[in-house]
Amino acid sequence: MEKITSVYLDHAATTPMLSEVYKEMVTALNDIYGNAASLYLKGREADEALEAARSKVAKAIGANPSEIFFTSGGSESNNWAIKGIARANRAKGNHIITSAIEHPSVLESCKALEKEGFEVTYIPVDDKGVVDYTEIVKAIRPETVLISIMSANNEVGTIEPIRAIAELANMSDIPFHTDAVQAIGAIPFNVHEMNISALSLSAHKFGGPKGIGVLYVKKGVKIDKFIDGGHQERNLRAGTSNVPGAVALGKAIEIATENLEENNKKLRNIRKYFLKQVSERIHNISLNGHPSQRLLNNVNISFEGVEGEALLMMLDRSGVYVSTGSACASGSLEPSHVLVAMGLEEEVAQSSIRFTFSPNTTTEEIDYAVNCLYKAVKKIRSISAVRIYKNKVEL
Ligand SMILES: *Cc1c(COP(=O)(O)O)cnc(C)c1O
Repeated sequence: MEKITSVYLDHAATTPMLSEVYKEMVTALNDIYGNAASLYLKGREADEALEAARSKVAKAIGANPSEIFFTSGGSESNNWAIKGIARANRAKGNHIITSAIEHPSVLESCKALEKEGFEVTYIPVDDKGVVDYTEIVKAIRPETVLISIMSANNEVGTIEPIRAIAELANMSDIPFHTDAVQAIGAIPFNVHEMNISALSLSAHKFGGPKGIGVLYVKKGVKIDKFIDGGHQERNLRAGTSNVPGAVALGKAIEIATENLEENNKKLRNIRKYFLKQVSERIHNISLNGHPSQRLLNNVNISFEGVEGEALLMMLDRSGVYVSTGSACASGSLEPSHVLVAMGLEEEVAQSSIRFTFSPNTTTEEIDYAVNCLYKAVKKIRSISAVRIYKNKVEL
């Protein structure tokens, strides 16, 4: 067997493209080069491919094709949903509800709206990363025009009670948006049945290419146009359609939803195996996130007395690729806003590493990664001045 020299354990940051997706995308790049807005055959071919992809997305999440809008990715979908719905409903009110642990593309969109006179309530989470439902109930006002809560958190993998929140929003006649970027392929969606008004997803998180995403917007939900220009995407998001990207996204979401249960089964075993290896070999660690209400591809661990960034760099040298919380926050020395919201002390938050698996991660890869992790933690602890004060493993 080939000797392992590198292991990619950062699938929440991005995933490699699935070979079937790659093949369809290359064919589309080569052959379907027409502009989907052109009226001649080459254009009509492109338009057909685009609409076929739209139908696949609609089918995967239980929407109508006319409710599916292609975007450049998760960040754009979140920006559009939040700013677009808030501004379109400005006459009704100026209040938005979101959570403290959202992706920066949600939080920064809310910050931008605050400058326009909107008020935003950031709902806290418990120590497992679960959004406080009763706080949402309390936060609702007559002026509330949007509730946006992520389906699953990208740093710790906690799955949020979005069914209940969507139901509450629906009863209160408030649009409910969810950032489902981490949840697609991990939990099943039926947006109509679940009362979801808007949902963001991104292809590169489930085996598709970077730079293409979707915003689902339920029929009847008021939302402002996001890019001015041509009439693409029902006159709401201008720009020549990214047909190869859409084709690839369609294929990737089809595969992800078809294999959801099987992938979860595989991930459950991988996660269990990883945790067993780590807990046997490395002590003074604690697990972050919810023990059961969670994504199965994610393990987030605090290593007492270890600086996360140092650990990441040492693992990088052994070819093990992991992350300290969100990639968007790395490079800064700020502790993760998610871990801080969960009540972790700054020092503990900064000692945390996120490992995220693919259903195809092998036990050999995990053995390699855990061995490197063991050595790196040992080395850092031996030179670190931080005192290890607890003596138990919390799993
Ligand atoms: C990755 C991610 C995004 C951003 O998606 P891009 O396509 O990379 O812009 C948004 N939300 C969550 C939860 C994510 O994990």
